[in-house]
Amino acid sequence: MKICILPGDGIGPEIMAEAVRVLRMLDLGFEMEEGLLGGCAVDATGDPYPLATQQLAQDADAVLLGAVGGPQWDRLAREQRPERGLLGIRKHLGLFANLRPAILYPELANASTLKSEVVAGLDILIVRELTGDIYFGQPRGIEVRELAGRQERVGFNTMHYSESEIRRIVRVAFEAARQRRRKLCSVDKMNVLETTQLWRDVAEETANEYPDVELSHMLVDNAAMQLVRNPKQFDVIVTGNMFGDILSDEASMLTGSIGMLPSASLDANRKGLYEPCHGSAPDIAGQGVANPLATILSAAMMLRYTFALESSAQRVEQAVKTVLAQGYRTADIHEPGTRKVGTREMGDAVLAAL
Ligand code: NAD
Repeated sequence: MKICILPGDGIGPEIMAEAVRVLRMLDLGFEMEEGLLGGCAVDATGDPYPLATQQLAQDADAVLLGAVGGPQWDRLAREQRPERGLLGIRKHLGLFANLRPAILYPELANASTLKSEVVAGLDILIVRELTGDIYFGQPRGIEVRELAGRQERVGFNTMHYSESEIRRIVRVAFEAARQRRRKLCSVDKMNVLETTQLWRDVAEETANEYPDVELSHMLVDNAAMQLVRNPKQFDVIVTGNMFGDILSDEASMLTGSIGMLPSASLDANRKGLYEPCHGSAPDIAGQGVANPLATILSAAMMLRYTFALESSAQRVEQAVKTVLAQGYRTADIHEPGTRKVGTREMGDAVLAAL
């Protein structure tokens, strides 16, 4: 059980240290090796995803990542930017399934911009296809064309999905639903787009393999509306790359607390890259005030999805719930009447709860 640890930049090393302490405390026999990704890798080697890190990531069963980027690297050429390292590792590892839970712990219901009765206790999972769709389809481009007798620039992209691409992501979503409340909603735009008619057909066919999971379908415009109207109607949502891009950001913001949200990106063999949804927060880096819970919850996702250690994953998630119930809050989620702590103290509280 090998884990490649990539703390990255900004608050990355601070939040990663707490997640590593949690993993060590569980004492499950993990082999952990640290590597460089992002700006720190550019500084050390000139490359945001250096060969040594590629080797480490390749050999590991899972990668746990902090965050990359920062203003000091913003003026570099595009290929040298820290974010290139992130795209590089996702592509290199063939991570086609992006899993983003949006959970709002009852204690944090006031962090959301929505009414607390709409979102308190929210627990949904968005499964987004990550390597296909209109973002990658050919042909694409901007060309000058003759239209109605005059020359005009035309921009075009191609929405493209093969049956096998759809089936593998839908299976990931059914498997995830099996470990939750057994409800899967597939989101498409089949009334207008043939590609997504195929998406719906393949989802229906795949449902035969999962008779214990209830499958429903929703058009994407309605799904966007339902997510703010009544988000608790959903358990797992599965959708393509573009719709998932938009809906997963919408869903994560229902919770209002970016420092709390983990994510997983998986390949066909359950190898995964696990990371918090937030960035490297350069504005608070080095101050010991960042919220480490999204990274700790990403480690819990790693236990669940790569290592199939469901009970250990739940222990970590339960420990996070416990510290919130005990009133511990980092600055980003602090409210009057709760106990304001720094990164390390929050880690200590999670370890104590474990
Ligand atoms: P950000 O997520 O880093 O920060 C947005 C705001 O949220 C900031 O005010 C920050 O202090 C706060 N915040 C974020 N994480 C927090 C945490 N764990 N605890 C407490 N507060 C937290 O987004 P940004 O400011 O737009 O980007 C900063 C850098 O991060 C940029 O270089 C960007 O490219 C990079 N970035 C990286 C990733 C990634 O590594 N996956 C994702 C997004 C942005």
